[in-house]
Amino acid sequence: MRCGRMGRMNPEDTIAAIATPAGRGGIGVVRISGSAAALIARRLLRSRKTPGQIDADPGMAFIESWRVHLAELADENGQADEKGQVIDRVLVSFFPGPRSYTGEDVVEISCHGSPVVLRYLLERCLATGARLAEPGEFTLRAFLNGRMDLSQAEAVRDLIEAQTLYQAKIAAQQMDGAVSNWLAPCKKELVDLIAALEAGIDFAEDDVGVLSQALIGARLDSMAQQLHRIAGSFRIGKMIHQGLMLAIVGRPNVGKSSLFNCLLERDRAIVTATPGTTRDLVSETAEVEGIPLRFVDTAGIREAFDEAEAIGVRKSMEAAAESDLTLLVLDGSADLATEDRNLLAKLAALDKLLVVVNKCDLPARLTKQGLDAELRGGLNAESKPPPVLFVCALRREGIGPLRRAILEAALPALSGNREAQFLTNIRQERLVSEAVGALAAARSAAENNLPHEMLLLDLYGALRPLNAITGETTVEDILTQIFSTFCIGK
Ligand code: GDP
Repeated sequence: MRCGRMGRMNPEDTIAAIATPAGRGGIGVVRISGSAAALIARRLLRSRKTPGQIDADPGMAFIESWRVHLAELADENGQADEKGQVIDRVLVSFFPGPRSYTGEDVVEISCHGSPVVLRYLLERCLATGARLAEPGEFTLRAFLNGRMDLSQAEAVRDLIEAQTLYQAKIAAQQMDGAVSNWLAPCKKELVDLIAALEAGIDFAEDDVGVLSQALIGARLDSMAQQLHRIAGSFRIGKMIHQGLMLAIVGRPNVGKSSLFNCLLERDRAIVTATPGTTRDLVSETAEVEGIPLRFVDTAGIREAFDEAEAIGVRKSMEAAAESDLTLLVLDGSADLATEDRNLLAKLAALDKLLVVVNKCDLPARLTKQGLDAELRGGLNAESKPPPVLFVCALRREGIGPLRRAILEAALPALSGNREAQFLTNIRQERLVSEAVGALAAARSAAENNLPHEMLLLDLYGALRPLNAITGETTVEDILTQIFSTFCIGK
């Protein structure tokens, strides 16, 4: 499939597409990239310096680079003889390659955001020699032309898809090359080691120093540690990228639905309802401090299945097991029921639990001490009991601290360290983990005193996935490295 798509994407073609979303808007942009971009724009547009005054250069024979020009889009007879009927007055910018987004000549035409005008403009581009761009093809060209590496291209997609400002900031960092820069020191160490071992093999008879097994082992350990940390950051990066999944469980009438609505309330405008997607559970997404949270409300479970308590507990456990964090809601105005105790005992062992005592406006039957004692009973001595928060969903009290506690419990590494770096992309995580695996193999080859040729196979096995993250090839780097360590004349 992929090959077929790539096959259709001849990089020699000039491509065009509407770059703004479908529908009506203030402006809409058609983007053209490729060697014929400027020619196509010239054919379609005629220059206009000020409204009412046609430029001396009607065919836009000359579009100045890096400038915005006012121009007219006329109907088909219009370009050359100035007689055509004007369809829109547009702004046109020309970004000559190789310093453009794609690395090729790029023209952007901003017209009024009418779907009819945009479609007409695009059709005229296609009739004048452009081909309709495939999804992502502008960025693919930017990658193929060396304007960005693969991780940066992926970040462009993440930035566009960001649901929160914090996600956008992380994507923007990565678009700036954060992932590549993060991997760079480790990659350099790896290339250095490969170069040293290659030199030792190729020039064994010369006076090239041979690294000791101990030194090789130490270097491998240092690289493996760095990469292990980078791969491990995905656990948090994934939550930043995809959002946290939060289950709200508890017996009927404790106030789960009320709490669910309180937690969503502040961001109701961006809430998207996806009812019934996960086995009849209701889930909605909201944002808490830049992290999307998907709340799964298990309130409907009873009606959907059975009145039996056992089923309620089992379904709650399933929802909890699939979530990053579970809120167990208790009714603070009532004594603990058997079902509460069952849920407490089972969920406390999952180690991702927040206990929320609701209905604090009513006379209290549950206390922090009492609950802690209850929770400790079900845990072994060294486990920490889960946090307990007191709220009143009815009066929306205690919701702010609850939101903060949710983030703190689910993402402890993030609180107070929001500038830290994370891998947010599973492809990148898999590749870094693959490199860690190859380094472990190299480590055991070194320990077993296998010939360096064998060790090198593993080192190249570690380098390959790292290169696949950025999409670059480093054969030349290695050669340069090898020969730069030689003295002149050798
Ligand atoms: P669920 O079955 O667990 O989802 O519970 P609901 O959210 O439907 O609430 C059950 C009942 O408890 C409703 O009548 C709510 O108005 C009431 N309720 C929810 N939260 C509070 C609260 O903080 N205080 C009081 N007094 N009543 C509440």
